[in-house]
Order: sequence, then C-alpha cells, then structure tokens
Amino acid sequence: MKLAQRVEDLPPYLFAGISKKIAEKRAQGVDVISFGIGDPDLPTPPHILDALVEAARDPANQGYPESDGLPEYRQAVARWYNARFGLDFDPDSEVVPLIGSKEGLGHIPLCFIDPADVALVPDPGYPVYPVAVQLAGGTPYAMQLSEHDGFLVDFDAIPKEVADKAALMFLNYPSNPTSATADLAFFERATAFAKRHDIIVVHDMAYSEIAYDEYVPPSFLEAPGARDVAIEVNSLSKGYCMTGWRIGMAVGNARMIDALTTIKSNLDSGIPNAIQRMAIAALDGPQDSIRENNAIYQRRRDTLVDAVRAAGLEVEPPKASLYLWCRLPDGVSSVDFAGKLLDDVGVVVTPGIGYGDHGEGYVRLSLTIPDDRLKEGIKRLKAWRLD
Ligand SMILES: *Cc1c(COP(=O)(O)O)cnc(C)c1O
Repeated sequence: MKLAQRVEDLPPYLFAGISKKIAEKRAQGVDVISFGIGDPDLPTPPHILDALVEAARDPANQGYPESDGLPEYRQAVARWYNARFGLDFDPDSEVVPLIGSKEGLGHIPLCFIDPADVALVPDPGYPVYPVAVQLAGGTPYAMQLSEHDGFLVDFDAIPKEVADKAALMFLNYPSNPTSATADLAFFERATAFAKRHDIIVVHDMAYSEIAYDEYVPPSFLEAPGARDVAIEVNSLSKGYCMTGWRIGMAVGNARMIDALTTIKSNLDSGIPNAIQRMAIAALDGPQDSIRENNAIYQRRRDTLVDAVRAAGLEVEPPKASLYLWCRLPDGVSSVDFAGKLLDDVGVVVTPGIGYGDHGEGYVRLSLTIPDDRLKEGIKRLKAWRLD
C-alpha cells in the first residue's frame, strides 16, 4: 500500500513509544504512576452534566448540528468573553465553535498557508502547530524559546527574511509545556511584529482558566489592534474538566473566523447539539468549580515542586497551566532521564524533546493526577536520585 508523502513525512510520535513502554511495565506487574498526561482527573461539574442529559432527550438535538454551531452557543461564548476579559465579539461573525481547540488548530493552516509559506511556531511548543502547518503544505519555522527570556518569543531573534516570508504565527500563553505566562505588553509587541511583517496570529489559550496565586491570564485580543491580525483559540477542556466532550471556540478577526468556518463547513458537521448545551451551561453557569479546582492544582503544585527539587531538578512553581517544566542537570538527555525514572521507580514524566528540539534538557510533569497517586509518586521521587 502506498501512503501519501504527507503521512510518511510526519515526525515519529514520541509519546506512542512512551505509552508502549508503560504498557510493558504494567504487564510486568509494575505499579506505574504517570505524571505524563495533561487531562484533568477532576470530574465535569454536575450542573454541566445535567444540561447534557436534558438536551440528549430533546429530538431537536438528535439530528445533524450546524457546522457553525448553535447561535445560542456562539452567544454564550461572546457573553463569556465579555464577562471574563471585557471584550465584545459579534456572535455571528467573530465566533466559531470548535470540536475542541485541537481541531481548530489543525484546520487553521489550511485557511492561511499556501505551499512554500512559512509559519512560526514556538519551540518548545504544542506539537500540533508544526504538524498542522506541514499537513497544509507549509514549512514550520521554530521560534526558539529560552528560560532566560521566561520562554517568551524574542521577536528580534527571528531573521528578517523569515519574518517577511511568514504567513502565520502560533503563540500559546499560559503555555504547554513550559507554563510560561505573557502579559499585555508582550501581546502588544507580538501584534506590532505581526503588523510589520503581515503575519496572522493564532493565540492558543487552552489554559486561560487554570491559574494560581491570584494570577489572571489576559487574552491576546486585549492588546490594542490585536483583532486586526489575530484570532484566539480557546477550549472548555481544561478549565471545565471537559476534555472528553470535545468543545472549544475561536474568536477574533472576522475574516479569519470566516475562513475557518468555510474550511470547517466543508470538512465536519459540527459539535453535537447536546454538547453545545453543556458548554452553554458551563459558560453561563456558576464558575466556582474553576476556583475550587485551581486550589487543588495549586496544592499539588506546591508538594510536587518540593519532590522534584529533592530529586535534583530545577523548577519554578508555575503561575498558570497544569505543568511543572523541570530543568535537568546539564548534559542529561530528557529521553534517558524519563526512561531511567520509569525503570527505577515506575514514575512517568514526559521528555521535553517531545515538544521540539529546544525542549531538550527538560521534562514535564502534569498536575492532573489524583491525590493518592500524587502522594505515592512524591514518595518515590523523594527517595530517588539521578546518579
Ligand atoms: C490540551 C491543549 C489543547 C487541546 O485542547 P482541546 O480543546 O481538548 O482540543 C490545545 N492547546 C494546548 C496547548 C493544549 O495543551
């Protein structure tokens, strides 16, 4: 069988190798504790589930959904963005529902990338950005992020000829995997850079609601003029513990939203209406679960930071997102480190190289692990030392 070149060209999926190794360990009877996956262990709040059950029984929700979603969902998104960020969006032209933000990110390059176009992607960063660019026939250019700059993009370090060729730039703050956060001044610099070089910006804000110590992440679209060049992709997955329900949204520049809606309407048939009803209940309903869950993650963060430091890694407690991004001692490879930790004490962490070449030298630990497992994992980390 002949596979398309674009499939052959995909990078090997590092995490599939890790999953295989975990499965082998478990088959040998090892009690594996995984800090690998960023998937909230906390349940979807009950009032959101109630909306699903009620909506599922209504025949109006049992046929095909519209690919641009229920008007009520787009309106709820606009209300939520107004309540949360003080921004106003026209629900009919500046909002599009997504089947989870990953779906939107995957389709966005099809809207803006022609063959030979360049797209700027953060490195380390969420692997979907470069892959989606490649699948659209474009070329990803890795913007190297360093701890020294707080993992913020240094726009001056991007060669002018690259910037001039670039059609699209992905940004992600609060960030996966680095947990870095950005302020409005950074978003203003990004907007100016984008305007100077005629680049479209896609800001991934999947972690907008996961923050600690009173920190409140800003929207990219709060930056003056951002709406001229940008859309923001967001999701109910992390903030409302809804990863399994697959719903998110993109908001911002109307031409960009229209292009994405056009691509999507040719490829998918939208989000099940009952799930859109859940999302309306989540966005319009009480927001207490976010505060309560963040208190849980913050407590986990603090105990896990101690354990990671005891194991010989360096880490700054994150202000937002679900991850500890931990620096390994000089010269230690992230894959070797993760392999040794799994072999020695049955603890899984994600090697930084999985997020790009500049993720090397780091590992990522997720806070989405139930408290009893966290306790056991911490015990093992504290009793272990890299030698
Ligand atoms: C989890 C995650 C997403 C995907 O979320 P879905 O809405 O569930 O598809 C997008 N971007 C980043 C950076 C993530 O970590």
